[in-house]
Amino acid sequence: MQQPPSRDSADDAGELAPATVAVVAGRPAPTPDAPFNVPVVMASTYHAGGDVGYGRFGNPTWGALEEAVGALEGGTAVAFGSGTAAVAAALDLVPVGGVVVAPERAYSGTLALLRRLAERELLTVRPVDVEDAGKLAAACEGAALVWLESIANPTMEAVDVAAAARAAHAAGATVVVDATFATPLLQRPLALGADVVVHSATKYLSGHSDALMGLTVSSPETADLLRGHRTAAGAVPGTLEAYLVLRGLRTLHLRVERSQASAAELARRAAAHPAVTRVRYPGWGAMLAVEVADAARADAVVSAVRLWGHATSLGGVESMLERRRKWALESPSVPEGLLRLSVGVEDVEDLWKDLSQALDAVAR
Ligand SMILES: *Cc1c(COP(=O)(O)O)cnc(C)c1O
Repeated sequence: MQQPPSRDSADDAGELAPATVAVVAGRPAPTPDAPFNVPVVMASTYHAGGDVGYGRFGNPTWGALEEAVGALEGGTAVAFGSGTAAVAAALDLVPVGGVVVAPERAYSGTLALLRRLAERELLTVRPVDVEDAGKLAAACEGAALVWLESIANPTMEAVDVAAAARAAHAAGATVVVDATFATPLLQRPLALGADVVVHSATKYLSGHSDALMGLTVSSPETADLLRGHRTAAGAVPGTLEAYLVLRGLRTLHLRVERSQASAAELARRAAAHPAVTRVRYPGWGAMLAVEVADAARADAVVSAVRLWGHATSLGGVESMLERRRKWALESPSVPEGLLRLSVGVEDVEDLWKDLSQALDAVAR
C-alpha cells in the first residue's frame, strides 16, 4: 500500500492546522452581536455601486464558502452549481481544438463531457494510462491541458501529481486535478504543482447527501477566468446549497478521519473474505472498491446489504455502495463485478457485519 500524501500541518491561514481552518475560515468578523455563521443571503438584486452588483456575479454566502475552501486548498476558490459545472469551467480553459490528456478511467461524467466536446471538435482527447509516468509524460507533448483524478473513480488508481505536473508544465500544458476523493485534508494538489483543483462539493465537502455543488481552486488569475465562465454560462450555485456545504465543511476533518480509518479496516477484512477476488484501496481515503467474481454476485451483494445504502453518490456520513458497471456510461475496462464502497461514519463493526453477511451469501 502507498503511504498517504504528505501534508503540512500549518497552512495558508497562518499557523493554523487544516482541522482548525475547516472550523474557523469564512466566518463573519467577531463584532458584538454578529452571527457566528454567514447568513443565507437570498438576493438577485443589490443596490448599485458595490462589489457584487448582481446575483449571477456573486453572493456573500458563496463568498464565505469560497474563502474557507480557498484557505484549505491554498488558492482562490470559485463556487459552481455542481461538480460537473466546475469540471466544465476548467475544460473551458482549453482553446478550441486543443488537446486534453485524460485518464483512461475516471469519473464517467467527466469522460462523457470530454467525449461530447470532442464530437463537436471543440477539443481532442488523448487517453492515457496515468499510473504509467513514462506514458503520461510522452502524452503531454503538444497538449493544452492534462486532466487527473488524484484517486480515480471508481478504480482507485493513484496518480503521482507532482511528477505529472512537472511533465505537463515542461510541455506547456495546464494541470487540473479532480480531488473529490482526496478532499483538501488528504492532498493539496496546488502545493504539488497543479494549476487547478476541482471538487464535487456534493461529496465529502458537504458530507450529508443533501446538496449539489462544485468548486475550483487556482491562482487568482486563473480564478478570474473560471469566474468569468461561471458568470457567462450562468453556472452559479444556489445560496442555500452554499450554506449547507459550508456547514458540512466544519466537520470535514472529523468525518474524513473516521471514514478513512473504517475504510482501511474494511479493506483489510474484505481482502481476506473468500467471495472477494480483489480489493482496491490506495492506502488512504475513505473510498474503496471490492471485486467479486461477476456481475450477478455483485448484484446479489447489493441486494443483501441492509445498513449500506444502494446509491450512486459518495462522501456522505451514510455508507453506500453500488456496482459501477450497471451504468452504461462506465468504462468497459472497469470489471463487471466491481463494487464501489463509500465508507461513512457509522460504527465499523456494524458496517462489517452487514457487508460480510452479504458477501457470505455469494461465497457459498
Ligand atoms: C460526483 C463527481 C463529479 C461530479 O460532481 P456533481 O456534483 O455530481 O456534478 C466529478 N468528479 C468526481 C470524482 C465525482 O465523484
